[in-house]
Amino acid sequence: MDAQKKLRLLSKLARFECEREPELEGCIYNASTPRGKKPILKVMQSTYCDKNCDYCVFRRDRDSTPRLYIPPEELARGFMELYRKGRVQGLFLSSGIFVHPEVTMEKLIDTASILRRRYGYRGYIHLKLMPGVSLQTLEEAVRLANRVSMNIEAPNEERLKGIARGKSLRKEILPNMVQVSRVLENYEGKSHITQVMVGVNGETDEELLKSSQYLYRKVGLNRVYYSAFFPVRETPLEDKAPESKKREHRLYQADFLIRDYGFSWEELPFEEGRLPEGKDPKEAWAERNPNFFPVELNRADYETLLRVPGIGRKAAKEIVSRRLRGALRKPEDLKGIRNAKKILNYVTLMGRYYGTETYLRG
Ligand code: SF4
Repeated sequence: MDAQKKLRLLSKLARFECEREPELEGCIYNASTPRGKKPILKVMQSTYCDKNCDYCVFRRDRDSTPRLYIPPEELARGFMELYRKGRVQGLFLSSGIFVHPEVTMEKLIDTASILRRRYGYRGYIHLKLMPGVSLQTLEEAVRLANRVSMNIEAPNEERLKGIARGKSLRKEILPNMVQVSRVLENYEGKSHITQVMVGVNGETDEELLKSSQYLYRKVGLNRVYYSAFFPVRETPLEDKAPESKKREHRLYQADFLIRDYGFSWEELPFEEGRLPEGKDPKEAWAERNPNFFPVELNRADYETLLRVPGIGRKAAKEIVSRRLRGALRKPEDLKGIRNAKKILNYVTLMGRYYGTETYLRG
């Protein structure tokens, strides 16, 4: 198999299961990077894996997965051909774990190193980190990449053990993440992210968001991505129902409240550990906390404004800046602010309520 064909197959496999020869277009996706959206080639260095995670297309015991390995030289060369043709502007390099995590990581690092040193490539590289590697290896990966990630897959050790017996959050993943965050203190503009699966092993939203808060505030991660479980055939979870995208969406909204809006997971409006799927989490929180409202828009500090449904960071800044120029007295004074109609349901303007929520009319 020639190098370009191999690269295409490894790219296709990196995104979804495919046993036919793929078209390259299907392998390139628009990813959010610290420098905006870019067409990124996501590719596996190897689809061989010694681990046997129950949900994964690359698990050791899945006989029908095509097994391929592309040496660093070939991968770097193939990527550069695409880059020079303008087809891609970045690389997301992942891999199954073969021989040993250090050996696998060494191959990914070699690929990135060839791109940087031999080809002078200065563009975006996202490197997946293999759990259980040494500090020296992590330092090298961080040095070469713009973004690094190590997936936690589950919110705690117990949930992870139920689906991936060969992995440990406590012994490998979290200690590595802490090391990466420390290394990243010496750099600017690089990011450190993870992914967790939703609906794979009975984990609750409460567990997921508690773990995300820990990762943001104690471990120093930049972003947690939530991925609704989808069953892969010929794996132990093939008969399990896929998770709803709605749940994934609510988790992203709640995550935003923790990451950017000053909420903590304990305050979120869980019902038996789950967020209400039919309602935005901030609105559900407001419903549970009527005493917090209405908020006087002319006096509330920035943090209080962020708790008002409909007010995001941009709107909060705009409100603070407008009221410096004069009091906000009537609904028209909110003209041009996104969600103004919704906001009026939760605020007063110089003591007067213009919303429609009867319980706030006083
Ligand atoms: S270690 Fe990664 S690639 Fe290997 S089976 Fe587990 S999730 Fe899949």
